[in-house]
Amino acid sequence: MPKVQETILEIDLRALKHNFEYLKSKLKSNTKFLAVVKAFAYGNDADEIAIYLEDLDIDYFAVAYANEGVALRQAGVTKPILVLHTLRVNFDIILENCLEPNLYNAKILHEFIAFAEAEKQHEYPIHIKFNTGLNRLGFWENDVDYIVSKLKQTKTVRVKSLFSHLAASEDLNEKTFTLSQINNFKAIAESLSKAIGYKPILHICNTSGVLNYPVAHLDMIRCGIGLYGYGNSAKESAHLKPIASLKTVISQIHQIEKGESVGYNRAYKSDEPFTKTATLPLGHADGIGRIYGNGKGFVTINGKKAPIIGIVCMDMIMVNITGIDCKEGNEVIVFDGKTTSAETLAEGAGTISYELITGISQRVKRVIIK
Ligand SMILES: *Cc1c(COP(=O)(O)O)cnc(C)c1O
Repeated sequence: MPKVQETILEIDLRALKHNFEYLKSKLKSNTKFLAVVKAFAYGNDADEIAIYLEDLDIDYFAVAYANEGVALRQAGVTKPILVLHTLRVNFDIILENCLEPNLYNAKILHEFIAFAEAEKQHEYPIHIKFNTGLNRLGFWENDVDYIVSKLKQTKTVRVKSLFSHLAASEDLNEKTFTLSQINNFKAIAESLSKAIGYKPILHICNTSGVLNYPVAHLDMIRCGIGLYGYGNSAKESAHLKPIASLKTVISQIHQIEKGESVGYNRAYKSDEPFTKTATLPLGHADGIGRIYGNGKGFVTINGKKAPIIGIVCMDMIMVNITGIDCKEGNEVIVFDGKTTSAETLAEGAGTISYELITGISQRVKRVIIK
């Protein structure tokens, strides 16, 4: 592995392959696999990851917003791409790039059909989302008649899939609620399919759903976080390998005396006779938010934990390296798959792996390991 000389996010495609195969091993052989690659594939590198997953014969992709799908098409991705959060303003680029919109309410369904008609489309692929309890996006059960009447009036669109999203797939205390979401969705899907006379693909599981609710795998599953190596509990994560490692270097080392302070607003004050600190070239603009300051977060240097001291700056953090054998230019691990996972680091500061990894900004260089 090349020597680390600046802040980098190393992305290991071998770990991605492992996670994909592990998750796939939980499915029946005919269950389709949709990879959720929104938000730069959770902060990793959507282009590299999607192209690699196409080589592994992935069935489908999903992004949150249309422009993320456009970027994938420009990178050469050819598999179908579901846009989870369709907005009216994006209809043009959706059609131009053969992206498949999720239509989640009467307004957007009506507007998209009108648009596709004006563009002389025939059986353009759309997806219909139902709200079964998350109360975020989606039609309600009693909208089925309206949807059917709209669909029966036109050949402009064709429903590729019907889906819903679980509110608490990782929380087994909510099992009764989750099973009711699954059953409601199945009933809605059945009545809608019957009324339109064909069977769209049905899907409801995210990563935790895949691991905790095999009965709900249906025709397809939608995995994001699991592909990138994390579950929503130690048990879920046990067989997954984090694909990303955030590494940096020591820019400068200081020695300070009792009563001296470190960083803005003098938030850290040393009460030891002697403290050694290291300044690192990454800060909140790189995705290490202020919540990791004042000892909530740490990095690893030569196998030892060095807590972040004081306030996280925009472009730098300072860590306490008292008692750690290291020098300027040495490698620093913020998170990886072995020493400290992003999950552990995030939990220590009161957040979750999703937020930490998706927040690693585009300023950080991505290095792909094949
Ligand atoms: C982000 C998202 C997913 C992926 O969830 P993970 O927990 O990361 O597997 C699946 N479905 C929808 C609708 C999403 O928004």
